Amino acid sequence: MSEQDQEKAAKRAQWEEINRAKALAKQQQKDAAAAVATGGAVRPAETKKQFQAVKGTRDLLPPDTSLWNHVERTAHEVFGTFGFGEIRVPVLEPTDLFARAVGGDTDIVSKEMYTFEDHDFAHLERLRAQILGLEFDLVEAGNFGMFLTYIEKFTDGLRRGMEKKAIPLTLGNILAQKDLDDYLSRFENVTKGRPNETILRAPNFDADFTFVQQALSRVKFGEVISLRPEATASVCRAYIEHNLNQQPQPVKLYYTGPMFRRERPQKGRYRQFYQIGAEVLGGNEAPAIDAEVIEMVMTFFDKLELPGLELNINSIGHNAPDCRPKYVELLRTELHKVKDQLGPDSQRRIETNPLRVLDSKLESEQAIIATLPHIADHLCDACNTDYADVKNQLQLRGVIYHENWRLVRGLDYYMRTTFEITAKGLGSQNAVCGGGRYDGLVELLGGPQTKGIGFAIGEDRLILSLQDAGKVPAQRGRDIYIAWMGEHAYPEAVRIAKFLRTAGFSVELPPTEQKFGKALERAARLDSRYALILGDNEVSEGMFTLKTLADGSQEKFTGPDLLEFLKGHQ
Ligand code: ATP
Ligand code: MG
Repeated sequence: MSEQDQEKAAKRAQWEEINRAKALAKQQQKDAAAAVATGGAVRPAETKKQFQAVKGTRDLLPPDTSLWNHVERTAHEVFGTFGFGEIRVPVLEPTDLFARAVGGDTDIVSKEMYTFEDHDFAHLERLRAQILGLEFDLVEAGNFGMFLTYIEKFTDGLRRGMEKKAIPLTLGNILAQKDLDDYLSRFENVTKGRPNETILRAPNFDADFTFVQQALSRVKFGEVISLRPEATASVCRAYIEHNLNQQPQPVKLYYTGPMFRRERPQKGRYRQFYQIGAEVLGGNEAPAIDAEVIEMVMTFFDKLELPGLELNINSIGHNAPDCRPKYVELLRTELHKVKDQLGPDSQRRIETNPLRVLDSKLESEQAIIATLPHIADHLCDACNTDYADVKNQLQLRGVIYHENWRLVRGLDYYMRTTFEITAKGLGSQNAVCGGGRYDGLVELLGGPQTKGIGFAIGEDRLILSLQDAGKVPAQRGRDIYIAWMGEHAYPEAVRIAKFLRTAGFSVELPPTEQKFGKALERAARLDSRYALILGDNEVSEGMFTLKTLADGSQEKFTGPDLLEFLKGHQ
């Protein structure tokens, strides 16, 4: 290229660049206008927007989903043989349910829940945000008047909402309404009938503004609800709500489904993940129940051939002065002696929840923790006997376990048996199941005194472990690909497809005519076992040609003979 040409090309490139930028600016203007018109519902699309699954969530696709189905089918089967029935609980629950059941100061509740207020008052919520975020200079003429107008508008909306009972008549809402009304009535004679520009800022505005802010923040437009981070709380809620204590006890229920926790995503840890769990509610606390629940999970895992299973068990006693609390005090005293050698998290937990120190995964703390007293040596007589019985009952069932004195649960209503199951191929996220006894939970949620024990399996991890071990069921391609050719063949092809599908075969019927070679190619790509060839010849003879794709052999059949042959060669 000559120098001149080069220069020309450079100019042209520059020119194109400018044009692109202009076009982009124009598009952005358009998008912004559209966004304003739709209240922000449309996002500016500089380039064609590619949507992606939300962080920590993922799509499960074939063929993986067939493994998921296999796992869930096995759960239905195995749990059914133990007399468990399936419960399906909502994904949304009142936030308070989890705050109570999981514990307000756990990570799950304090920072990992997806929570929102469920209501029809978006306009009032926006107005509130506007008032709370006011940044204009209130000394400036007119602004203070406007501020009062906003509050008046808000209190009007709030009053009307509460009158219609669309906004809950909670004490917090009623008091907030009263505070805002009181505030406004102080300025009634200042504002009445006067244009905003003439209203001056109140002298002690800053203190007043704080007062108004607090009143506004107290208003709840609707129920605060969360995506469930686990399902035990929901099952207990359902047990209470439907008076399941009237049924023969204990009630044995299991569930499967997605859970949501806003954690840092990594292998085996997602924000939407799936659990398979079971709960036994009511009846007595016989150790045989604990052992049978554990036997059931282990049977399920064995049936799936989950590799490298290890069952860890422990007893954490119960919440009576001569049992766990006594041990916790002893533990606290011992921890104080070694406090300097512990990290900040454990140091804090000495005060808040000493049991949780035992949970620590910090390498530097392991040697110290190993010297701490074991809870098993400090259980009350009843819990001691119970623990021994659970172990006997496990032996009776041939369930192999390891005792792990460091396996604990942080909440008061957990008691006696706790267990955790780990599997292979999962790195540090190797717990596939956690469970335990929680006799106080139903009562804590407002129900009758009820015994309870249950577990939750992490299905995502279970699947990862099965995949890692190559325990994936063989993939099934199509049974039959119908290679039809000619307009007479098509109605016949539709009929035979229906006939074979009714008989339970997986059939691919191409929607448009294909050349013979192309049809066979597609049949092979779909991993079909047979191609059913249906051309004008076959139609006029009332026959079907069946080609076995593995060896290329071919045979002609009538409809009934075809079915018989296929059934005999499954
Ligand atoms: P971990 O210590 O692994 O965080 P956890 O104590 O939070 O587990 P549980 O609340 O007892 O777990 O839930 C039971 C099971 O659910 C866990 O053993 C695990 O297999 C699975 N699980 C928990 N959180 C997640 C997640 N974010 N992603 C995938 N699986 C999870
Ligand atoms: Mg966790």
